[in-house]
Amino acid sequence: MSDTVSNEITIKAAEIYNQEMAQGAAARFFGLDLIPGKKLSNALGGYAAMVEKDEYVLYLYDATDLGSAKDGFLLTNKRLFFKNFLQGAFFIEIGKILDIIHKPSILSPSIAVRTEPEGGMISITLSTLTGEKDGKKLVNVLNKTIAFLKNSSTASTGNTDQTLAQAQSGRAVVCKGCGANYVTGSKICDYCGAPL
Ligand SMILES: [Zn+2]
Repeated sequence: MSDTVSNEITIKAAEIYNQEMAQGAAARFFGLDLIPGKKLSNALGGYAAMVEKDEYVLYLYDATDLGSAKDGFLLTNKRLFFKNFLQGAFFIEIGKILDIIHKPSILSPSIAVRTEPEGGMISITLSTLTGEKDGKKLVNVLNKTIAFLKNSSTASTGNTDQTLAQAQSGRAVVCKGCGANYVTGSKICDYCGAPL
């Protein structure tokens, strides 16, 4: 990917983030340069270990109580990586995301990622400390950014990256229920309950 294209994407992502979050920053949702180094390295050393060299991080959400960012999600220009507490690490390609829906709840707020072509629904848990307002904002940021990435020629729709990622992990499986790429060993999809 050329530097010009990557600059265009990061500038746009920063613009979307600043528009939505300016009125009250969500303490757990970080954009670009605002992502704390320790959280980023925990995510990249954990559930998002498959981020590649030509892929760059746009946003990180820390779902943990203690702030380690070992659970949560991370959006790159190509994929959404995510991990819920005590569940496996997954990713889904940007090109396969239809949209993201906010599911506010006092006890267990979450976002639901609607995927194609399976018509699946992946549930990602938010921290209970992310209130309805901030949850709505972060979902707006994600939807706007994903729409932009899908329209730009650089978004991954395809099999090349997936095949590469699978080759790297050696055992990634695509869930037939929701389309998520399951990268740890299990019999049942943590996100939609479908057998793998
Ligand atoms: Zn699934």
